[in-house]
Amino acid sequence: MRGNEMGPSVVAWEATRACNLVCRHCRAEAVPTCDPAELTTAEARRLLEDVASFCRPTFIITGGEPLLRPDVLELARYGTSLGLRVVMSTNGTTLTADTVRAIREAGIVAISVSIDGPDAASHDAFRGVPGAFAASLEGMRLAREAGLPFQVNTTVTRHNVDALPRLLELARQVGALTWDVFLLVPTGRASAEDEIPPARYEQVLAWLLEQSTMGAAGEAPAAGMPAGHGTAPAAVPASREGMRIKVTCGPMYARLWIQRGGQGRRPQGCMAGDGFAFISRTGKVYPCGYFPREAGDIRERPFSAIYRESPLFLELRDPGLLRGKCGRCEFRRACRGCRARALGTTGDYLAEEPYCTYQPPLRERSARVAPGAGCGAAPPGGGARAAVAGGSPLAADGGLER
Ligand code: SF4
Ligand code: SF4
Repeated sequence: MRGNEMGPSVVAWEATRACNLVCRHCRAEAVPTCDPAELTTAEARRLLEDVASFCRPTFIITGGEPLLRPDVLELARYGTSLGLRVVMSTNGTTLTADTVRAIREAGIVAISVSIDGPDAASHDAFRGVPGAFAASLEGMRLAREAGLPFQVNTTVTRHNVDALPRLLELARQVGALTWDVFLLVPTGRASAEDEIPPARYEQVLAWLLEQSTMGAAGEAPAAGMPAGHGTAPAAVPASREGMRIKVTCGPMYARLWIQRGGQGRRPQGCMAGDGFAFISRTGKVYPCGYFPREAGDIRERPFSAIYRESPLFLELRDPGLLRGKCGRCEFRRACRGCRARALGTTGDYLAEEPYCTYQPPLRERSARVAPGAGCGAAPPGGGARAAVAGGSPLAADGGLER
């Protein structure tokens, strides 16, 4: 049995669709009210028990806005008691000193807060609610005061790509442990028009690499850094300012890292179904939050069985099945391309990644892989995209807003 069939390193659970914001790019198409079909407290407890019975992943509670689910901290506490490493992805606007204290008491080891513009005007326009920027900054201030580690998540779109340097500076100023940069996958309210062109993606990834210690000539990579997750968190090098930078759902970052002779822990490519899984508010299991192909339903079958045996997940774990240029690419085991983007663009999740500018040589597929490009292998140091000590606690996935 391959490692990733034994268990994921990161699981994201969409605790609710309810949210107080109306973000332009919202994957969940969140609305103010919860979905009556959301998992009950008892069902969510069984999910946590099942996950803990076969692996010890970082368990991301996401939404919507998870803090709008009344039993969310009770469930977080239960997950922690089972040995899961529970983290939470929040928009930060509902945080108060009491909430931050309750989050810590529930055993949540870290939170992520999404910031998509470097100032109130741009962020609030993105988030759809005036005052969101100020409220999120206040939430992060409270987290910092309470010693609750947090990361800033930013989704790159054509609306904010020019503001990335200012966003990097903002993340550093607010005291984020990590700046986690997500590359948009058009799902939910996000559309292809929000995306930047492939060549710009490449520039952005190269810039991010340069901003990290790994990209800075002569600087040693930070030790003990966690792996990424394909919705994944990716490399988590320390930036020159001490804050870590990672890339999520930009799997070509792994290819760039190899091409440029990166040292230390290799960023991870796409982890959809292969180290990462997403569970919807109603218990449907997906390879990631941007991948609208269902692998199973935990109301019918345990998550553990779905994760191990789903034909969809088994296919995604086999880079030998990739088609097009990804199929002949020497970086395919490290990168894999975004399977959700391939699906959205071509209808085939094994097709080539449409946003990659790299052209692999036209030759017979080689068994040789790039150094350090072990498929599904734990990167040096192993682990999920987690571990607050020494890196970002959140995926992803994050990620995870996913
Ligand atoms: S399929 Fe795309 S969006 Fe999903 S985890 Fe992989 S890189 Fe991220
Ligand atoms: S061709 Fe595919 S596998 Fe190769 S670097 Fe591009 S996206 Fe990754």
